[in-house]
Amino acid sequence: MPNLKNLPKVEVHRSSAGLGLFAGEPIKRGAIIIEYVGNRISTKDADKKGGLYLFEVSSRTTIDGTPRWNTARYANYACKPNAEAVLHGSRVMIEAKRAIAAGEEITYDYGKEYYDDFIKPHGCKCASCLAGNPPRYR
Ligand SMILES: [Zn+2]
Repeated sequence: MPNLKNLPKVEVHRSSAGLGLFAGEPIKRGAIIIEYVGNRISTKDADKKGGLYLFEVSSRTTIDGTPRWNTARYANYACKPNAEAVLHGSRVMIEAKRAIAAGEEITYDYGKEYYDDFIKPHGCKCASCLAGNPPRYR
């Protein structure tokens, strides 16, 4: 298990996409930012339930990250994100893909399935797309 002590400070506040997760201090490339936590449910139940904050960690287990104590749920999707979700066994860590400056919004790629279901219908509003770049998924 990675060391989860001394995780960087993060803040939740308003972003272009509603609430977002922001770096409260500079974060080094590769550093764990926050764990994606929630209630563990069966992937079968998760498929039935549906929802925005489901993170499938295996064919059997899905994390339902809906509770507000899952601060990681505030990290928004982006086509050119500065962080990524990494599995450590059955736990999910949001880790910095590059150095992140204090005050920068923390974003990661939720994957194509999520994109197709929840983002594509309304058009992607991540910073890269708003700047006129083509979206990551078509
Ligand atoms: Zn985008």
